[in-house]
Amino acid sequence: MPNRITSPDDPALQQLCDALRAVAPEADRTGAWPGEGMRACGRAGVYEWFLPAEHGGQGWDDEQVTRGYLALSQACLAVTFIITQRTGACRRIAGGTNDALKARLLPRLVSGDSFATVGVSHLTTSRRHLGKPALTATRTGDAWRLDGAAPWVTGAEAAEHVVVGAVVAGESGEPTDEELLLAVPMDTPGVTAGDPFEMVALTASRTGPVLFDNAELADEWVVAGPTPEVMKSGVGGATGGPQTSTLAVGNAAASLAILRDEATRRRDLDQAASAMGAEHAELIGDLLHAARGEPTCSSESLRQRSNSLVLRAAQAALTAKKGAGYLANAEAGRLCREALFFLVWSCPQPVQQAGLCELAGLSL
Ligand SMILES: Cc1cc2nc3c(=O)[nH]c(=O)nc-3n(C[C@H](O)[C@H](O)[C@H](O)COP(=O)(O)OP(=O)(O)OC[C@H]3O[C@@H](n4cnc5c(N)ncnc54)[C@H](O)[C@@H]3O)c2cc1C
Repeated sequence: MPNRITSPDDPALQQLCDALRAVAPEADRTGAWPGEGMRACGRAGVYEWFLPAEHGGQGWDDEQVTRGYLALSQACLAVTFIITQRTGACRRIAGGTNDALKARLLPRLVSGDSFATVGVSHLTTSRRHLGKPALTATRTGDAWRLDGAAPWVTGAEAAEHVVVGAVVAGESGEPTDEELLLAVPMDTPGVTAGDPFEMVALTASRTGPVLFDNAELADEWVVAGPTPEVMKSGVGGATGGPQTSTLAVGNAAASLAILRDEATRRRDLDQAASAMGAEHAELIGDLLHAARGEPTCSSESLRQRSNSLVLRAAQAALTAKKGAGYLANAEAGRLCREALFFLVWSCPQPVQQAGLCELAGLSL
């Protein structure tokens, strides 16, 4: 069992990563929730990294968190991705305005005794073109009534609480420009976790909708709002930061390790392995600069380059592994499927556009 990790240089981080590396193929093969991997992270103190001491955390700075995520995502993307959603929920609660809620929920979240997740993408990306809110909150007396769905929620079935975003609706149901964030207990009457999706990869994240049918939530569950653009409010409020790039670069490291290993026996792979290795090292440097608050490029450029590398590195690993890598349980094949996730996860429009141009062989 790994010891508690207190810095990204702690040897216990490598111990944990070794354990998670063993979890990854099994999670991919079965699509089952990686409960043991999540518990191992809790025992190793991973959930303490992201919150300040006042909430029982270790308060790692952005550079330390980036280095931690790089290591974890090289070992097991499924578990690391789930941790990002869990952390998203914790940071929203910690950065919100409801002190009683923080005192009530955060201690068990930091220790790993409880799991929370987040369903907010319908406020920023998902289903926006439909022009109709996916989830509404209507004031009824001294409570909020939630109706609709949070279409994407990772690990809802394992969660005690889901931090969801809803558009405030008037009495006759018309949407207003105000939004609300609530930490919804999953055992609230009228709240159900829909069946999780079978996906190209990361099915083990057990991602699916959470459905709301006349669900009443008292004010005690409000994290932030009502206010316009609630996702921009509070600490930890920004969406689409460098974290997605970090996971892409960490995942690329797993592909590059395969390529390098094959290259030790095959000179013809040397050139590709060292060129991609250099690109990878440069990206890590840029990520760490950004984390220190001294960015060398925009976060969109970082994301575009990280996306490009993770996809190419996975395909290079598969090319090197040949048919053996294309078998259903082969690591190279899994990494190719996982790399596709970065095309759709929290991907800003300019990054999508730049990616399409690269695929189409067009210059921007
Ligand atoms: C594995 C996984 C886990 C996730 N976990 C979470 C989570 O825990 N919490 C969370 O909040 N989010 C989560 N997300 C959501 C994610 O961050 C994105 O918001 C989501 O992937 C956006 O996809 P969408 O299909 O909902 O997008 P949409 O924009 O709704 O697109 C759906 C479809 O609509 C059509 N369409 C799109 N745009 C237009 C347009 N402009 N005009 C006409 N038609 C259009 C297209 O046919 C498209 O296929 C997760 C996503 C994945 C893949």
